[in-house]
Amino acid sequence: MAAGPVHETLAALDLVDHHCHGAVTAGLDRAGFESLLTEGEAWPGVSPFDSPVGLAVRRHCAPLLDLPRHASPDAYLARRSELGAAEVNRRFLRAAGTGVFCVDTGYAPRPATTPAELAAAADAVAYEIVRLEGVAEAVAAGGVEPDAYAEAFRTAAWEAVRRPGVVGVKSVAAYRTGFDLDPARPSAEEVTRAARSWSARGGRLDDPVLVRHLLWTAVDLGRPLQLHTGFGDSDLRLHRADPARLTDWLHLTAGTIPVLLLHCWPYQRQAAYLSAVFERVYLDVGLTLHHVGPARAGAILAEALEITPFRKLLYSSDACGPAEFHHLGALSFRQGLAGLLQERVDADEVALPDALRIARWTGRDNARRVYGLPGEPGDDG
Ligand SMILES: [Zn+2]
Repeated sequence: MAAGPVHETLAALDLVDHHCHGAVTAGLDRAGFESLLTEGEAWPGVSPFDSPVGLAVRRHCAPLLDLPRHASPDAYLARRSELGAAEVNRRFLRAAGTGVFCVDTGYAPRPATTPAELAAAADAVAYEIVRLEGVAEAVAAGGVEPDAYAEAFRTAAWEAVRRPGVVGVKSVAAYRTGFDLDPARPSAEEVTRAARSWSARGGRLDDPVLVRHLLWTAVDLGRPLQLHTGFGDSDLRLHRADPARLTDWLHLTAGTIPVLLLHCWPYQRQAAYLSAVFERVYLDVGLTLHHVGPARAGAILAEALEITPFRKLLYSSDACGPAEFHHLGALSFRQGLAGLLQERVDADEVALPDALRIARWTGRDNARRVYGLPGEPGDDG
């Protein structure tokens, strides 16, 4: 394995994973595990293990279960069951070497660790990110008159972000409408009308006026806003999740809240552009990191870093489901970033102290700064 001062610094860095989810708490059989390996589905005759992330699990996760590298899927899952979910989670979460997790608690298709449970298993600290669509849908489910919706949502969102341990909010507008929205703040009359038709129709929040209203409410809350962009499951229309489509909204909201573009792939270059021209825009390439594995993480990070200012890139795993992903995300990030920075140091394009600063900023300090997390004094220099 490659070595050198940049690899050593990144290998030892206490990461801040600014966007992840809980780890599944139940045991997983082969079908269950395979369904979580893919953003698609486990189609008949095609194992999700036969994919880049499947190979990465067998290569980089098997040794943590005391198996040889590249163990077969059957051997891997047999050992996983033998150890049990709690021990498997503990091993991968500790191996992640992550000091802080910011956990999106709004999406858990299977029973998963709470932020406190995740923190205990990882021997780390966990904060919470509130998913605003969940807040809006709870308000609607509680029964509210259309003309009282805006105020009820606003009150519920404020209550949610004031809870101890909450450090930011998130929206999945990309999934619900995409970003081709009128960027302006909707009027009270528009919101009431939209709330009326939503309450008649029911279901999840996917009305374009109410999604816009949600994004503007996030601005009023004043907390960092995470936005899903790019890569996701088949519920997404990928082209509508291109963050460049947010440009007009970013102009209108410039100078307000930090906006964190999550995942971004394959639009990491568009996201990089936005982070280079809007003061309060940040990005990560989470989710993609473990799907491409350490073998390609450096290439994705290199594209993200072509023009991203170094205080604007954050680390996230976007691990959701098996704790393997909390580990693989961290490993892919460390190895990918170390590889590309060391290469530039070797070519004398970057001085070693600058490379080490970039590593600490992206892996830890940028997130501390954006979310106002506690850290060692002087680390953020
Ligand atoms: Zn996520």
